[in-house]
Amino acid sequence: MIVAVDGPTASGKGTIAHALAAHFGLPVLDTGLLYRAVGYQTQLDHGDADNAADALAACAFPDALLADPALRYETTGGLASRVSVHPQVRAALLQRQVDFANQPGGAVLDGRDIGTVIAPHADAKLFVTASAEERACRRFAEMQARGVDMTYAVVLADIHARDARDTGRADAPLLRADDAMLLDTTAMDRDAAIAAAIAFVEERVRRPS
Ligand code: C5P
Repeated sequence: MIVAVDGPTASGKGTIAHALAAHFGLPVLDTGLLYRAVGYQTQLDHGDADNAADALAACAFPDALLADPALRYETTGGLASRVSVHPQVRAALLQRQVDFANQPGGAVLDGRDIGTVIAPHADAKLFVTASAEERACRRFAEMQARGVDMTYAVVLADIHARDARDTGRADAPLLRADDAMLLDTTAMDRDAAIAAAIAFVEERVRRPS
């Protein structure tokens, strides 16, 4: 079974993807991490994330980089969002994601274009979202807990900028697939969102469309 989980930044899609993977006993791939690795490697190479050739060269990042805590930084998310607009970068990362999705037994993948580009044939597709203000609140609370010094206004502005870049790019923009279930978690806590996601996937498996 292949499960596609897409959605904007800080929507909770990663949490939901991991919970689905644990529930159904499937491997999970956070595809955002691949773009984060490319963005971070571009910076390590002293390249420019807005330059397609620099970003493409960074696609040869070593696998060990995927475990680097720096990939989780907000600044790395911004770099990821910039390198991800280049079609050459998306093409370079495509096969790795397709192979992961199509492995025997299936998989859960989360990202922006899983249900539309990477696994359009997925058995279940979820589009997880929440209002920009709610996503900014969650991100802000996370940062405060980690002791990161940043204002709510800056976090909200960053969310708006990332949304605009992810939905506005020409190649594989963030888009809800026609057959994806919309899960708006604005007024839901973590457990309720996970329960809704599991119920949807179970229903899909019982009654494929
Ligand atoms: O999900 P995460 O915030 O880690 O993703 C970082 C950035 O990588 C996103 O803002 C998006 O621009 C890009 N991305 C993408 N396609 C994916 C996953 C992430 O373009 N499948």
